[in-house]
Amino acid sequence: MVNRIEAFKGSKHFLVNHVAEGVFAAISVPGTGSVGNAAIINLGDSTLVVDTFTTIQAAEDLQAAAKYLTGNSVSYVINTHWHSDHTTGNQVFTPKAQLISTLTTREIMATYGKNRVSEQMSNPQPIYQAIDELEKKIQQETDEKVKKEMQWGNASDREYMKMLPNLLYTLPTITFDQQLSIHGSDRSVQLITYGGGHTESDAFVYLPEEKIAVMGDLVLSKHHPVMIHANPQEWLNILERVELLDIEKIIPGHGEVCSMKELREVKGYINDILALVAKTVQSKKSIDDILVPNAYEDWGFTTYFKMNLKKIHDLLTISVE
Ligand SMILES: [Zn+2]
Repeated sequence: MVNRIEAFKGSKHFLVNHVAEGVFAAISVPGTGSVGNAAIINLGDSTLVVDTFTTIQAAEDLQAAAKYLTGNSVSYVINTHWHSDHTTGNQVFTPKAQLISTLTTREIMATYGKNRVSEQMSNPQPIYQAIDELEKKIQQETDEKVKKEMQWGNASDREYMKMLPNLLYTLPTITFDQQLSIHGSDRSVQLITYGGGHTESDAFVYLPEEKIAVMGDLVLSKHHPVMIHANPQEWLNILERVELLDIEKIIPGHGEVCSMKELREVKGYINDILALVAKTVQSKKSIDDILVPNAYEDWGFTTYFKMNLKKIHDLLTISVE
């Protein structure tokens, strides 16, 4: 390890942002093996990492950065939720670190997550096929912004496939239900869950003294929130409870370090998309004709917009029946 740490001069997978003394955001570089953001928190006598990226390569760089920036190896790893861009690098940190998530997140990882990875390992062909198909779509895409995002997606999928044969899907070792505090010699952090909104269970890390929150995908900055596994109403309820906390800086699951303004933008987006789909269903029109509202035109993850519409449409029409 020593050589690697001495050699740490940054990573192609992420850029390190100094958020406060001993608190660092690892902001994903698009098209690499990170996909999601992570965070590094120096607790004094120990070091905590929040989320572990999509690939072993990116997680190894995160581990090296943590050691380089804090002087300690990582003792605690938090998985904010089960999605692969926040959990697949877990194996890099064991057995030295304890991996922590909510009980529900661990249950999903132990069943659905684990099965999905073993299917991918025994039959990787469908993923290669999807990569090829997306490659063709990229050639035909005329919208430059969408094209760029598709290229990033494909490049990240290739990074993932490079690593897949070496993947040991690694589950959290400690779980909690509502709140768990970790106390280091210099600082304490709170792990909090208000239930599930973005996924079936979402946790975040709160530093009350520094007024910082590492929000996982409950808050994305200038990116379409990913709603494919979401419960939009619960998501809004969770964000309303988060607003009651004293927070000045947010490390989001995707996008740049931000503030409560971006949290409120996510709320606005969810409300807007619910209203858009409801109006379309009422007037018996097709959701395929809904365009990205002006307010979100510059946001990343454009390709999730259609998926979000479909998810909300399914939720609304199922609840009507
Ligand atoms: Zn994510």
